[in-house]
Amino acid sequence: MIAPVTMFGPDFPFAYDEFLSHRAGLGQLPAAAHGTEIAIIGAGIAGIVAGHELMKLGLKPVLYESDRIGGRLRSEPFKDGAGAYAELGAMRFPPSSRALFHYFDKVGIETVGFPNPLAPDTPSTVIELAGIRHYARTKDDLPKLFTEVERAWAEALEEGAHYTELTTAIRHRDTATIRRLWHHLVENLDEESFSGFIAKSRSFRELGFRAREVFGQVGFGTGGWDTDFPNSILEILRVVATGADDEHRLVVGGVEQLPRRLWSLAPETMSHWPRGTSLASLHNHVPKPGVAKIAPGTARKFAITDRYGTTAEYDAVIVTCQVWLLSARIDCAESLFHHDLWMAMERTHYMQSSKTFVMVDRPFWRDIDPASGEHALSMTLSDRLTRGTYLLDNGADKPGVICLSYTWSDDALKWLALPLDDRVRLMLHSLRQIYPTLDIARHIIGAPITVSWESDPNFMGAFKANLPGHYRYQRRLFSHFIQSDLPEAHRGIFLAGDDISWTAGWAEGAVTTALNAVAGIIRHFGGTAPSENPDPIDRWPDLAPIRLVE
Ligand code: FAD
Repeated sequence: MIAPVTMFGPDFPFAYDEFLSHRAGLGQLPAAAHGTEIAIIGAGIAGIVAGHELMKLGLKPVLYESDRIGGRLRSEPFKDGAGAYAELGAMRFPPSSRALFHYFDKVGIETVGFPNPLAPDTPSTVIELAGIRHYARTKDDLPKLFTEVERAWAEALEEGAHYTELTTAIRHRDTATIRRLWHHLVENLDEESFSGFIAKSRSFRELGFRAREVFGQVGFGTGGWDTDFPNSILEILRVVATGADDEHRLVVGGVEQLPRRLWSLAPETMSHWPRGTSLASLHNHVPKPGVAKIAPGTARKFAITDRYGTTAEYDAVIVTCQVWLLSARIDCAESLFHHDLWMAMERTHYMQSSKTFVMVDRPFWRDIDPASGEHALSMTLSDRLTRGTYLLDNGADKPGVICLSYTWSDDALKWLALPLDDRVRLMLHSLRQIYPTLDIARHIIGAPITVSWESDPNFMGAFKANLPGHYRYQRRLFSHFIQSDLPEAHRGIFLAGDDISWTAGWAEGAVTTALNAVAGIIRHFGGTAPSENPDPIDRWPDLAPIRLVE
């Protein structure tokens, strides 16, 4: 069988999946460290994974959370919705996220195919651009221009990014080739934007502006990529080369089950703690309140003050909230990080994102219009305000869910100031232009749900996306868990979460940076990784991401 493409590198090609499943475990700690409290700020998936693994090693994680367990893995139930829910944050998961799927498997998460544009589980797709509507059950139903755009993108990747060679190396975990190719791309493309890469490619130049416009609207995989055009092309190459935009899965019952089940899970084997211990039992079932202040404490400890003014001291801290919050919402002592790291945190570029969901009486979109032979409503990509409309089927006899609109960046900002009812009204108006004879409103039941992540003070943005020229900042953030060369005053505080990773916007990055922080904590307490299962710190000298001249 051909090896699958996974999120193995390309910046740091460490096999987190093999590391996680190794029977020797992730490390050992001196017995004297057992029971030591470690503060973890944020109970999103990074905080929960770090807490789970630290507990297994015999430490005592103390999770602080300002909002609710799960963070951006948020499955919001509709009121009186008979189990229907809205995935407000992450909603589609590529199987190439091997570390994330390790935890899915551990807690028995079930997944099904996600109804992306033209995906096998999508009954039909409508692409409506510049007022022209195309109905398609498969790609072959679309006009020739779409095939030409798809070919132009494939050629641009081949010519500009050694695409086949790179993905083949990722498939086979051929570290030397990945590093050679990726180093070349980083050196040459760090300053290049996604739109610049497209516009300069021979294939898109030949097709002209209309093709770039169509590509921006329809994109690859999940659609609607022009809001990413200002970002670094390296961000896009990371997504396509690691299969992050392919074969997406939907979590049955909502992805928030993952952090919640891990929180309650009592591992079979653990150091120090009695059988039956879980993160929930260590916390009396509720995390501590949000953190207001992080300061140096006594005897090289960290003083963490919660929002109600209670201070506790810890030997080590993992910060998993988005890093902007360290300057905007948390009074964090500047002395805890080098100014180069503060610079990297401050320059972090977050995408905005808005989603609006309605619950409907049944999955009426499967009805066939006898006149046209088409589905009543299809997964819809449009250049109108809605951009992407997704249909989520919970079964013929159950209420269905429509994500009326999923947007990023400027498209999300267009919704930001509008209250829920205005959003829904405008979205239905847009869809009525595409489906003039369909009355979607007639099917809506219950109250809609909307989110704009950038207006939530616990997040201040949906997810990071590096701008051109940001590679150096990203490298500083990612490599901070390697602390042996840091001055004493900067050690013991670790950063994790998807904005620290090379793959922000993907929960895989949250999980893998949590594992890096765990490795850092093990070293901080004088522990080691098992010799037969080297950890990211052991492998750093061979795998460290390329360093560009500062
Ligand atoms: P978070 O989930 O942000 O967790 C950090 C936690 O810190 C939060 O719970 C927050 O409340 C808490 N916090 C903040 N301030 C404080 C404080 N002062 N004290 C204590 N706690 C605090 N990923 C995918 O894999 N697939 C997708 O399809 C996908 N789509 C996405 C779509 C959207 C709109 C968004 C927003 C994200 C998407 N992601 C997707 C990314 C995924 O959701 C994230 O990578 C992941 O959830 C991040 O987890 P985290 O633990 O790093 O951060």
